[in-house]
Amino acid sequence: MNKSYVIKPIVDEELPMISHGSGIYLYDVTGKEYIDGCSGAVTANIGHGIQEVLNKINEQGKRVSFVYRSQFTNEAAEQLAKKLIDSIGSEFDGVFFVNSGSEATETALKIAIQYWQEKGNFKKTRVISRWLSYHGITNGALSMSGHPLRRDRFTELLQDYPTLNPPYCYRCPFQLNYPECQLQCANELELMIERIGADHIAAFIAEPIIGAAGGAVTPPKDYYGKIAEICKKYDILFIADEVMTGCGRTGKMLGIEHWGVVPDIVALGKGLSAGYSPLAATIVHKRILEPIRSGSKSIMSGHTLSANPASTAAGLAVLEFLESNKVIEAVGDKGEYLINQLKSFQGKYHTIGDVRGLGLLIGLEIVLNRITKQPFPRSQQATFELIRIAKEKGLLLYPSQAGNDGIHGDAVIVAPPLTITKEEIDELILRLEQTMDEFEAQML
Ligand code: PLP
Repeated sequence: MNKSYVIKPIVDEELPMISHGSGIYLYDVTGKEYIDGCSGAVTANIGHGIQEVLNKINEQGKRVSFVYRSQFTNEAAEQLAKKLIDSIGSEFDGVFFVNSGSEATETALKIAIQYWQEKGNFKKTRVISRWLSYHGITNGALSMSGHPLRRDRFTELLQDYPTLNPPYCYRCPFQLNYPECQLQCANELELMIERIGADHIAAFIAEPIIGAAGGAVTPPKDYYGKIAEICKKYDILFIADEVMTGCGRTGKMLGIEHWGVVPDIVALGKGLSAGYSPLAATIVHKRILEPIRSGSKSIMSGHTLSANPASTAAGLAVLEFLESNKVIEAVGDKGEYLINQLKSFQGKYHTIGDVRGLGLLIGLEIVLNRITKQPFPRSQQATFELIRIAKEKGLLLYPSQAGNDGIHGDAVIVAPPLTITKEEIDELILRLEQTMDEFEAQML
């Protein structure tokens, strides 16, 4: 290949050149086939090359491809916003379109702070988040993230927001077991609020299932009920970061629905346009929008490309595809089929410490010793090696962090397009088996 000027995650890394994609498969220019076992970055929720989505983007582009949000609204954005409200609940009343998950969570942060200002409270500006969380790479979103590796270079620039221990049962930060623990990880929120003072705290933010920073860490069934109860008691908003878990990934439109909790603000991204065009959204509960409507009347945020017609047309087409093909309804069964096979891998592979997740968002925590849960030494770069071997075998997996400090642990996420068939799951499992055989032969 000629010299590449594209800066890669490892700046001059040689990455395969992609040629095209179809369904769950991607093909590079040498003709090598990959199963997209992680939908890119848990994004390509309906798979690649869906013609009806491409047609709708094209049709929109032919009419108008860009208008500026403070000069015009557009049909695609209006229809998508309505569809989103219809699918997540009429208690939500407004959708603020942005271009990335980081912008969506940062917008949620700003709306939460503004909400309190509109009510005359200028002190409520801090946000509580959790260790082993990831809400985005921009400084506001990173300030809310408990992802040590991504924070490290910028620690001095970040807001010093308080962080709660994660609901990480495999390595409980309190060395307790559920349910005897009585949800100490949730109860700790109350103590934290009491110490800081509720009058300084605008919101609590959480990914329903911890993705990039924890390898699909899935809290117990009563966890978010407890969290929501504490937030309500102390008048603190609850922001659900559904950038990874939203739009059907877990078998429901929002991941938080599994816990029966209605948040105040929801952030969506990734699966919203399923990668067909950059798009994310911050969705606001009626009760949060009301004092803004009757107060300053304007949300102080926005981006040049917000509510871009081509992107919102993509989002609308993706939601229509999910609906007309009843995709989300089938995720539960497919997820169970996949997770059961992955759990059965534990009988064969001693390095699979934990298998967790919901729907088609599944994490494998990789350890040196399953009995003691001892992680691999950092020098062995276990996550990196596992992903490298899988790619060689034609399977894409998503790297994640794990371990109580979010540094000394290894995890990967398996999250194929929601459109995957059972036969294709079997093929994915076969390639993962070949990967694990080679990984253990090399690493143990
Ligand atoms: N929130 C969650 C839960 C995420 O998983 C991510 C990305 O992985 C983000 C926010 C940031 O999204 P983006 O990379 O689109 O800025």
